[in-house]
Amino acid sequence: MTVPNIRIFKCIADLRKFRKDCWIKDLSVGFVPTMGYLHEGHLSLVRQSLEQNDVTLVSIFVNPSQFAPHEDLDAYPRNIERDLQLLESVVSKDRARRVAGVFTPSVREMYPSGIPLETSQQKGAFVSVSGVSEQLEGRARPQFFRGVATVVTKLFNIVEPTNAYFGQKDVQQSIVIKRMVSDLLFNVQIHVVDTVRDKTGLALSSRNSYLSDEVKKQASVLYRSMTGARSLYANNGNLTTGELKSSIEKTIVGENDKFEIDYVAFNYADTLEYRNNPSH
Ligand code: AMP
Repeated sequence: MTVPNIRIFKCIADLRKFRKDCWIKDLSVGFVPTMGYLHEGHLSLVRQSLEQNDVTLVSIFVNPSQFAPHEDLDAYPRNIERDLQLLESVVSKDRARRVAGVFTPSVREMYPSGIPLETSQQKGAFVSVSGVSEQLEGRARPQFFRGVATVVTKLFNIVEPTNAYFGQKDVQQSIVIKRMVSDLLFNVQIHVVDTVRDKTGLALSSRNSYLSDEVKKQASVLYRSMTGARSLYANNGNLTTGELKSSIEKTIVGENDKFEIDYVAFNYADTLEYRNNPSH
């Protein structure tokens, strides 16, 4: 594979050697963990890292432990060549910095005890962040945040970043990671970067590649339903969360009556506890 400038680290020892040099030279290291199939959302995290760090590292690793056996681990989109080309094209505003390296570890090295997808069969060490992992996404995907917290712990132990970048799009994930970093005393600063959307308002996502253009257009109703509820509330501060929820649900089902809603919920931004009143 010929992608100039970017170094590809396929094993942990090589990445650690590189990181040791950064320590010796006293260079700050920004880190952007991803599962690849990159788009502008990922690149905005990379850009912020380039502005704020001497060295930027990106990982591309489709993490098995966050997928349930019935989910799309095998089908998850992958295109490492294209990812590397995209990363190669990103430069800091002063054009002085580019991505220094991409870490593409193997499943075997990341999970030395093995990683069957069935949690009851999993052996070894895992990281759970109680209180913020069980609600919202965690309700539909009970092993998801344990998988995310575990892989991010492993990646932090390898990369030892000064700063790490996560997307607001996955808001619960960013809250889980912040809580984990604070409770487990990781020596890293977490930055949460705004969601990048297409012109219809749909948040960019690697999994959007599963959708036809028609469904993608319809899926932007998620954004429209939420901004619609925000305007309703701005005009009438007496509305309850129940009323705002039903306005959101009505807008979504009005777009396509085949859409099934997993949940619409109002939660506190730091604890993720459910809230009954939007104003307090
Ligand atoms: P993923 O490859 O989907 O695991 O995402 C890697 C990182 O990119 C996560 O921190 C995501 O929250 C972030 N990300 C994904 N899509 C977007 C987006 N549209 N806008 C901003 N950040 C994003």
